[in-house]
Amino acid sequence: MPRPASTLLPRVRVLATGGTIAGAQARGARGYKSAVFSAEALIAAVPRLRELARIDVEQVAAIGSQDMDEATWRKLAARTQAALDDPTIAGVVITHGTDTMEETGYFLNLVVHTEKPIVLVGAMRPANAMSADGPMNLFNAVAVATTPAARGRGVLIVANDEIHFAREVAKTNTTQLGTFNSGHRGLAGLVNAGRPHFYAPPVRRHTAASEFTLPVRGALPRVDIVFAHAGMDRTLIDAAVAAGARGLVIAGVGDGNLGALALAASAAAAKSGVAIVRSSRTGGGVVERNIEIDDDRLDFIAADELNPQKARVLLMLGLTVSQDSRVLQGYFVNY
Ligand code: GLU
Repeated sequence: MPRPASTLLPRVRVLATGGTIAGAQARGARGYKSAVFSAEALIAAVPRLRELARIDVEQVAAIGSQDMDEATWRKLAARTQAALDDPTIAGVVITHGTDTMEETGYFLNLVVHTEKPIVLVGAMRPANAMSADGPMNLFNAVAVATTPAARGRGVLIVANDEIHFAREVAKTNTTQLGTFNSGHRGLAGLVNAGRPHFYAPPVRRHTAASEFTLPVRGALPRVDIVFAHAGMDRTLIDAAVAAGARGLVIAGVGDGNLGALALAASAAAAKSGVAIVRSSRTGGGVVERNIEIDDDRLDFIAADELNPQKARVLLMLGLTVSQDSRVLQGYFVNY
């Protein structure tokens, strides 16, 4: 018999957005559909959650995370902040597709102001697939959200018995359970069947210490990502500027490099007031200023450790405060 939920257990709010963790697969099928099962169904599938927390749920969206957009981010940020501003709630767990989880996590890390735990969780296998990973991931995520040791660590991502900082983590494999990797600075911790173990704290500013807030009126500025490659010309950079981009993130080759034609287009864009951030398509390492490209002369910004998709998030929020490339560069050093 499952134990009745104790009033002494911490309260956790689960905000559901869809993803494979809520996905359904027809018997014998290769494919599946994201975001089929409701938040209530996911919770009901893990009865032992009642040992960890008193849980209430809210369905914020029901999408595959490839469809995550600014409107949903805004709603999610508002619902997360509202939950955590409630003194009776210990932490928030957000179920989310893994495809863009790192972007949502980093976005919330910058715009939600709290010391309480915010934990994103997903799964690589649909909820009704053989050996589904969602139930244990959800159990571990709720355990992390209820532990006082998770406070003040910014937004966390839990999957595959690992705890990652949203700033550090990237999805690195299309299908395998160990897809999440925090290559630069390592794991935030491990969680074994509901028992969290934390390592070093996060190194950059986040949540309660973040200076960013979402503008109440108007959309975030448009920021596009352009992927560099051998033989690149200027077409996509010019197209992004023509589409109204206020910022461009270059997923540069190697150390954030790009060939002469694309470099000339980027320099012209920077001169016309578009913020140019050089990141890297390599998936690892630091993009520093003024190595093969003269950032000082061209007024470019180096992404430091952020991958292109996270550099886009920081640049969108940074541009709501300043267009000055020195100020924007400072954000990439501090966040
Ligand atoms: N496209 C799905 C999503 O991001 C699959 C990834 C997953 O949830 O694991 O929602």
